[in-house]
Amino acid sequence: MSIVDHFVAGRPFAGSGDRLGPVFDPALGVETKRVRLAAPADVDAAVDAATAAFPAWRDMSWARRQEVLFNFREALNRRRRELAEIITAEHGKVLSDAEGEIARGQEVLEFALGMPHLARGGYSENVSTGVDVYSVRQPLGPVAVISPFNFPAMVPMWFLPMALATGNTVVLKPSEKDPSAAGWLAALLKEAGLPDGVFNVLHGDKVAVDGLLDHPDVQAVSFVGSTPIARHVYERATRAGKRVQALGGAKNHMLVLPDADLDMAADAAVNAAFGSAGERCMAISVLAVVDSVADDLIGRIRARIGGIKVGDGRRNCDMGPLVTGEHRDKVAGYIDEAEKDGAEVVVDGRDVRADGAAEGFWLGPTLIDRVGRDSRVYTDEIFGPVLSVVRVRDLAEGIRLINDGAYGNGTAVFTTNGGAARTFQREVQAGMIGINVPIPVPVSFYSFGGWKQSMFGDTKAYGEQGVHFFTREKAVTSRWPATGTREFDLGFPQNA
Ligand code: NAD
Repeated sequence: MSIVDHFVAGRPFAGSGDRLGPVFDPALGVETKRVRLAAPADVDAAVDAATAAFPAWRDMSWARRQEVLFNFREALNRRRRELAEIITAEHGKVLSDAEGEIARGQEVLEFALGMPHLARGGYSENVSTGVDVYSVRQPLGPVAVISPFNFPAMVPMWFLPMALATGNTVVLKPSEKDPSAAGWLAALLKEAGLPDGVFNVLHGDKVAVDGLLDHPDVQAVSFVGSTPIARHVYERATRAGKRVQALGGAKNHMLVLPDADLDMAADAAVNAAFGSAGERCMAISVLAVVDSVADDLIGRIRARIGGIKVGDGRRNCDMGPLVTGEHRDKVAGYIDEAEKDGAEVVVDGRDVRADGAAEGFWLGPTLIDRVGRDSRVYTDEIFGPVLSVVRVRDLAEGIRLINDGAYGNGTAVFTTNGGAARTFQREVQAGMIGINVPIPVPVSFYSFGGWKQSMFGDTKAYGEQGVHFFTREKAVTSRWPATGTREFDLGFPQNA
């Protein structure tokens, strides 16, 4: 069985740890690889490589750094399918969706290609007589990126191009469930001309993560994953004095008002709830629908679910398996619980017949009506193909329902009433809002991040906020008086 190595200082690295984790092909239901789980000495090796590479990378001209990233973009365009196949073989999502995640990650890379402009400082001449003030933005040093299993290429690429283009060096700790995409990206960056040690991949679990959070040379941490771990990362790394952005879990609601185009809403609900088997932090997991149109909408969704082909992501299906058998069983457990709680399972994914190996981690699209607001099925992030329906009286109750929840990642309203949409957008407490758009992931020149338990820290991913996260501003006040000018004044300088 092949072993997935770390990638440190420009080459595969076995490290000193002897622990290994299983990597499955979820559509086959078998372990296909093992991944190294870093020991503390391996964390040191990766951070040391990033620390050693930093001065030369920081001092390289903007033009030369941009050239490497341009080369990387071209190579990624040529070889996108190869990366998509790696993602599908370890995550399970269908190939077209894997290509989609690469494209969304590449958007951030393309945004970062404008970094010389984005990271420019300001200049104010003669703020006081003969005095100029200007600002520059400088890189932080070695930074850590810790990513979840559900987007093994896109989430790392929310951060890598931003960190690298601004002159930082990186240690990426990808999910141990689907680790290979990270090493592939590292090898491609090297081919594109990235100097050794500027981008390193460290595989592992809590030992690797906590080692990075505590390491004195790591200057900043970008984390994406579940809420309990995001909170842990935020608290531990800020205690160690680091800059931290920690994006957590979600429970995204789609509110459908009676005036909505119900066919459009049904399409959107199905795409957003069951795409990538619901393993998206922006997936719609609650359909909040005004009672008067609820039965009609549920009927339309049910009909569409019948057309979803579940199976091996390499076989032209619409929806793949879940990432592990353990996760599939956990999600199926929520359907059991919904039944016990008295909810109505309208479409039951536990009975799915998939186009794939019998041992695959299958669970079909599931629709549950009349889910109780106190039920764990409603309050927990399930992270699978389960759409819960909660009926509300009107817009105001829908907004209250969303705002009473613990999370605030994304949310959407479906309506043909501009005034209702505006009220929703103003009042709802979430970081990313869709108006007739079910998964409102901001494009690369805005920034991605939620509110409440969906994000810890105040600087979102990519866009302008990403530029700020990966740079520190220096304000310079300068004066070039004529030689021989003398001043003797102990007072605080005042503008003159
Ligand atoms: P996870 O929290 O289990 O793992 C994320 C990372 O943390 C992984 O690299 C993992 O190795 C590490 N980790 C796990 N347990 C740890 C521990 N005890 N101590 C230190 N590190 C630990 O998340 P996941 O299951 O890989 O991904 C799914 C979760 O990520 C969902 O909750 C989803 O909503 C969230 N997510 C959020 C966003 C967002 O932008 N807000 C995007 C994608 C995924």
